[in-house]
Amino acid sequence: MGETPFFETPLRALRGIGPRREQALASAGLETVGDLLSRLPFRYEDRTDFARVADAREGTRITVTGELLNCRLRWTGRRGFKIFEAVVRDESGCLLAVWPNQAFRQDTLRAHQRVILHGPVTRYRGVLQLGSPDVEIVEDEEGEPIHSRRIVPVYERTGPLTSRVQRAILFDLVSRLPDEVEDLLPARLRERRGLPGRRAAIAQAHFPPAGTPAALLAAGRSPAQVRLIFEEFFLFQCGLVARRRAEERERKPLVPVVDDRVRAAARAVLPFPLTPGQRVALKEIVDDMRRPRPMNRLLQGDVGSGKTAVALLASVVAMESGQQVAVMVPTGILAEQHHDTISRWFGARGYRAALLTGSTPAAERRRVLDGLADGTVQIVVGTHALIEDDVAFARLGLVVVDEQHRFGVVQRAALRAKGARPDTLVMTATPIPRTLQLTLYGGLDVSSVRGLPPGRVPVETMVRPDARRDEVHAFLRQQVEQGRQACVVYPLVEESEKVDLRAATAMADHLAQDVFPEFRVGLLHGRMRSQAKDEAMRRFAAGQIDVLVSTTVVEVGIDVPNLAVMVVEHAERFGLSQLHQLRGRAGRSARKGYCVLLHQSPLPDEAAARLGALEATADGFAVAEKDLEIRGAGDVAGTRQAGMPTLRIGNLSRDGDLMAEAADAAREWMTGDGPEAARLEAFVRGRWPRQFGLMNVG
Ligand code: ADP
Ligand code: MG
Repeated sequence: MGETPFFETPLRALRGIGPRREQALASAGLETVGDLLSRLPFRYEDRTDFARVADAREGTRITVTGELLNCRLRWTGRRGFKIFEAVVRDESGCLLAVWPNQAFRQDTLRAHQRVILHGPVTRYRGVLQLGSPDVEIVEDEEGEPIHSRRIVPVYERTGPLTSRVQRAILFDLVSRLPDEVEDLLPARLRERRGLPGRRAAIAQAHFPPAGTPAALLAAGRSPAQVRLIFEEFFLFQCGLVARRRAEERERKPLVPVVDDRVRAAARAVLPFPLTPGQRVALKEIVDDMRRPRPMNRLLQGDVGSGKTAVALLASVVAMESGQQVAVMVPTGILAEQHHDTISRWFGARGYRAALLTGSTPAAERRRVLDGLADGTVQIVVGTHALIEDDVAFARLGLVVVDEQHRFGVVQRAALRAKGARPDTLVMTATPIPRTLQLTLYGGLDVSSVRGLPPGRVPVETMVRPDARRDEVHAFLRQQVEQGRQACVVYPLVEESEKVDLRAATAMADHLAQDVFPEFRVGLLHGRMRSQAKDEAMRRFAAGQIDVLVSTTVVEVGIDVPNLAVMVVEHAERFGLSQLHQLRGRAGRSARKGYCVLLHQSPLPDEAAARLGALEATADGFAVAEKDLEIRGAGDVAGTRQAGMPTLRIGNLSRDGDLMAEAADAAREWMTGDGPEAARLEAFVRGRWPRQFGLMNVG
């Protein structure tokens, strides 16, 4: 069963679309009639009401109707610059209309034509005028208007195709929609939700019926829009249901057993009791590991919530069942830190652990590889070095990927491929909004660590303009004098990398020489050799540096409990989640931590919203939702690596509620055995990848 053939028509077959326009549309991903129909207007304009020309007011947009007079092409002083002008007259008076640089208007507009004009009212040399208005010639009072006398769609300009050109093309397409249009939304589901049929929804989403409230259209909540958004989400979710079903049928070679011996082993390694949140997450993970199919689970939790401990206890379960564990992290520093933790916790139990990074010396590397290949190394922590070709495991049963957004889909898959359908646990740096979980991670199982370890005092966040830098330095001094440490972070982005580096270096010098001559000031940046970086980090962690000036490398996972103050320079240049991550590095102990967000003035609105949100909440789950709301799904950290589906109609930051409902509906309808389930299954097998792109998860 395929899409209605009309929808598959290539765009070049349409009147008005030649090679140049076809090319422009193709580079916007629009190749067929169906593609064009599913790209909805980004806003609408109500041009139903005619204004009287006598009522035209500067600064408004109006629609007027009347008779054209005095049409002429006027040459201006500037060479080649011509203006087409006319006067439009209605029963209330006359108004000048001008079309700069549109000499072609003389071919279609002449005196005594009845027209409808829509455009902005401006004032030029004291005279009110309509600037480059849209024109509709009223030839036949019966004919259906396209660009006026209705709520008109406004489309995003695509190459040479203006909104107006697209409106004309879509009007033509909509008028030629076949009577029967294939509709994959089950009829009963449509009825239950009160959604219009697909044909009507397409027509009305492009050309809303008179009287559709403007507010509904602007919010994407007219019945036609809701229907199309829901349909897109529902079909997307059907694909995810199908994939999960296939995963359920997989079998792993060895299923871990959990008995009293294993429980005792797990209890023995832990230096502290788990928080209730950690216990819940651990139980979900272990229950999953005991199932016959491979686990594919995301572990999320606020920064500092203690995800590492949970992952390490899951590792004990795997090791006690004779499996090997691989923990992949994004940086050498973080790998060393995890390896230290593992050695401290696991050493006494006799588990054999190893570290493998880019800077592991050749002889040591050889030993580690041998140990992994013959099974004597039970747990290895490492960086990308783990996925190199010559790394082989004897019995890799559990793969843990920390700070997963730093890795691509391919890298995660490469590590998994080193085992036979191993259990996989990916950990995120910050919580992921539910809508994105349902999309990006495709209904992947998710465990959340709620709450923080006991005794944590929430970090206090202060937003300060650059002009108050002296106060900030005084505060730093006071903290360092109490034996605590501070970090000053600089943004570092590729476009201005050199300037950023210079700024960070200059600040380190300035702080060391002028501001804190009595303290030990260190510098750490992304361009330093990795040994030098590790050395600086190690000294900071060991308390041998009081104030560390750093580019964003500290963002990744490091744990320095004595770090009291995190100062972020140019905070306006950071994303919300990133700032929350940085803040989470401070106050990882029973003593209070502070985060100072220094910004340039004036502060743009969007940046002010971000910084304000951070001041208002310390909860990473709330921060994540806010981030999605402010930035939109495409920009939230890690979405690209995770493989975002192509969503044309829905907008995840606006329509999240519909995605959740669509997910429930997809589960319900895909499990039925009626004709609808079969049709959906066929869609998923055939057209799903073209519509949504290839998704990879894990
Ligand atoms: P994240 O979730 O950000 O990766 P970590 O796993 O690095 O957090 O843990 C943050 C800090 O909290 C570490 O120093 C860790 O030892 C400590 N920690 C974790 N769980 C507990 C607990 N249940 N009780 C006390 N301290 C804990
Ligand atoms: Mg961590």
